[in-house]
Amino acid sequence: MSIFTRDRNLIGVLDLQGGVWEHLDHFDRIGIKAAPVKDASAIPGLAGLVIPGGESTCLSRLIRIFGLEQPLIEACNRGTRLWGTCAGAILLAQTLKGEEPHLGLINIELERNSFGSQLDSFFREVLVPKVAPDPVPLTFIRAPKIIRAGQGVDILLEMDGYIAAAETQEILVTVFHPELTDSLAFHRYFARKCGLTLLSGNVPARDPEWRMTSWTRYHPAPSC
Ligand code: GLN
Repeated sequence: MSIFTRDRNLIGVLDLQGGVWEHLDHFDRIGIKAAPVKDASAIPGLAGLVIPGGESTCLSRLIRIFGLEQPLIEACNRGTRLWGTCAGAILLAQTLKGEEPHLGLINIELERNSFGSQLDSFFREVLVPKVAPDPVPLTFIRAPKIIRAGQGVDILLEMDGYIAAAETQEILVTVFHPELTDSLAFHRYFARKCGLTLLSGNVPARDPEWRMTSWTRYHPAPSC
């Protein structure tokens, strides 16, 4: 049974490149209906949309090629919640150090590849009080840093002199990948941000069944 009271609302995961299935698998584990989205016409009906991690230059080109730039901006302006993980956060930022911004929807400045190369990727467990009562595992893969959060942006997690997660009412950005861990906390947090209500009951903070390859079990409906 779904742990959320409203299952008519759909969360989309932008299905152009990057970690799409891992997000879909996490939403499935918390009983939330989620679907891969490629088509501009599917975007306005969504309660929320995840722009996954991957490679932001590649993703931004595909967004332009598929004509998704305006539909994404308009959906956000009409209230669809957006969550950018890593490359997705880069696409949503208003300012990029040394580069032109892409969608420019949230008043933050980001520096890409700020920890170094792919080999400087790392894993941490950190308390994010607004998201979960216990420390949350976080995976950083060639991550950016949020180096400034402007007016109207709330900081969810600051560590070692940079911002790792922030939000406005409409947009969540995380420079790490909760979908590459056994934690469901950020997916629950985003579902609530989309207006999906958590039913009471004992909900495990971590999924005992999860493994790094778990997403391969997941066979969602074709992209819309
Ligand atoms: N380094 C990538 C970029 O700049 C982001 C990496 C990621 O999404 N894990 O686009």
